[in-house]
Amino acid sequence: MSYLFDPAPVIALPVEDANDFPVNRIFCIGQNYAEHIREMGGADTDIEPVIFMKPASALTLGPDVPYPPVTTDLHHEVELVAALGPDGVIAAGVGIDLTRRDLQAVAKKRGGPWEIGKAFENGAVIGKLRTGQPPATGAIRLTVNGTPRQHGNLDQMNRKLPELLALIGRYFTLQAGDLVFTGTPSGVGPLLPGDRVEAEIDGLPPLSISMTDRKASP
Ligand code: MN
Repeated sequence: MSYLFDPAPVIALPVEDANDFPVNRIFCIGQNYAEHIREMGGADTDIEPVIFMKPASALTLGPDVPYPPVTTDLHHEVELVAALGPDGVIAAGVGIDLTRRDLQAVAKKRGGPWEIGKAFENGAVIGKLRTGQPPATGAIRLTVNGTPRQHGNLDQMNRKLPELLALIGRYFTLQAGDLVFTGTPSGVGPLLPGDRVEAEIDGLPPLSISMTDRKASP
């Protein structure tokens, strides 16, 4: 097969003690922790979660993550990430769903899609994956420059992982290589260039990133 130009390389995530995980699609769940729904101004804290996507090209492993363009309000959202193989979930990791909150707010106000707030390059940060079933309970936390920002427990998820997969499966056919961000606990907040971010979930490899300087807008 020859192409008009060289195809983009396969995007892959490192896995502890195993071969790399080739990434297909990145599904994201929003509004899955009651306290986070509340902090975002929601009254109904048990609504059906939102499903959105980021392209695989949004993925970054860090440790250096460029502060994205066109925002003055980049937020961190620490999340459990499930990784699917040919027969279902085969691994999990710690993720940070970076969000241009100002642009997401504009999109929400228009009733339009969230891509400009969510699907930008380097907006999906994921640490090293660990094989096996993801933990269903345990602490999930994030610090910025050593200061605690988010601290919840996976058992606070309104919909647990099997329910989330079933929900996504109503609308899409899940495939090997798909990743699922499962929503964030409360405590989301802004990041600035130079910030050092540590994200942890009990039982999974920790994730450390540094926000580097803002890239010039194209
Ligand atoms: Mn999120």
